[in-house]
Amino acid sequence: MLQQEADCLFCRIVRGEIPARIVYRNDHVLAFRDITPVAPQHLLIIPVKHIASLNDLCPEDEAIAGHILLAASVVADIEGIRESGYRLVFNTGKDSLQSVLHIHAHLIGGERMGWPPFPGAAALHG
Ligand code: AMP
Repeated sequence: MLQQEADCLFCRIVRGEIPARIVYRNDHVLAFRDITPVAPQHLLIIPVKHIASLNDLCPEDEAIAGHILLAASVVADIEGIRESGYRLVFNTGKDSLQSVLHIHAHLIGGERMGWPPFPGAAALHG
């Protein structure tokens, strides 16, 4: 078993201790439905290895980072949104409202999104 944390929510999902609606897994990553979806399709792609956030990625984790990105189009394909489009978001740190300290890519899609994601951001930042 790769490095895991006993009390980490997402490590517990990896170990099958907490149920999740898993749509894809391989030796490196797991993808499951977000319990509070913000879009018609909202999946979380996580590494099997416990890494708290992007800030904690080490050079030795380069392959894991790649596996998360490679899983994105696979999961999007499973969900039927590979061609219509999707967004991948890694909340990192408190300003981003990261709430689970285990790297997770939010893969969201299934409807037209806005950009920028912050209402009024364009007005504020020119
Ligand atoms: P973040 O706020 O970026 O850390 O995202 C954490 C995400 O995990 C949120 O979108 C939650 O809805 C989701 N989440 C929390 N607990 C679970 C769970 N047991 N199964 C699936 N998703 C979860």
